[in-house]
Order: sequence, then C-alpha cells, then structure tokens
Amino acid sequence: MKITTIEKLSEENQALVRLAMESRKHAYSPYSSHLVGAAVRSKEGNTYGGCNIEIITLQMSAHAERNAVMNMAMHGDRVIDALVCYGPYSGVPCAECRQVIWEFCDNNPDVLIIGATTEGEIELMTIGEIYPYPYGPTTKGIDCKKY
Ligand SMILES: [Zn+2]
Repeated sequence: MKITTIEKLSEENQALVRLAMESRKHAYSPYSSHLVGAAVRSKEGNTYGGCNIEIITLQMSAHAERNAVMNMAMHGDRVIDALVCYGPYSGVPCAECRQVIWEFCDNNPDVLIIGATTEGEIELMTIGEIYPYPYGPTTKGIDCKKY
C-alpha cells in the first residue's frame, strides 16, 4: 500500500474520490453512525456511486463499496477499473466487500483500490494486495462474460 494525498492523484482518480465523498452524504447509518461512501469507475469509463445503508437488524445492511459495485452492474458494466472507499479512520474495504469487488475484476489483481479517509489520508492498493488468494468465478470454472 502506498500513502499519498488527493492532490497527487490523477484527475480521473480525484474525480472518483470526489464522487465517493458525494455519495457518502446519502449514507443511512442511524445505528452505527459510521458513514461511508464509495465510487467505482468501470473499464468503459463510467462512474457509479454507493453509500452504506443500514437496516435495524444490521445483518441485512449493505456496505458502500458493495452498493457502488451493484450500481455499476445494474447499469450493465461488468469490469471495475478502480474503486474508492471513503470513510472515517480507514478506506480499506472489508473482507466481504473484497469478495464482491473481485467478482467484477475480470481476474485482474491490479485493479486499483483507493482508500480515502475523512482525515484526508489516501491509500493506494490493488485488489490483489488486499485479496491475494481470491475465490471467484474461475475457481469454479465459470465464464461470467455472457452475463
Ligand atoms: Zn464492506
């Protein structure tokens, strides 16, 4: 992982961080008060935001990264180019979100993950670094490209 600042990112990655910041404003987390935003840029260059949505039982809550990835998929894009997770104290996606992100990485461990914190810290990582032994469609021999 590499620590940097938003000003040192490319313009397109700065825009993706800003989308995650905007998306965080819609977070619904009355139970934990843990507000998180996320944004995905697809291989096609489209961007999609997401935020965490909590449900009182908590088990059915959805994390910001997952909602951003689902937002991308429901709009027809299938491959992530980069993903931003923006939240307090850490922007590193949780283990469950890493699994969801991997589903749409087209087996590319170099997909960029940008962890951004409300304190202004930016961490650059790849999905391969944070999910080094992935379980995915190819693990089961399934070609998802036709879906
Ligand atoms: Zn998560």
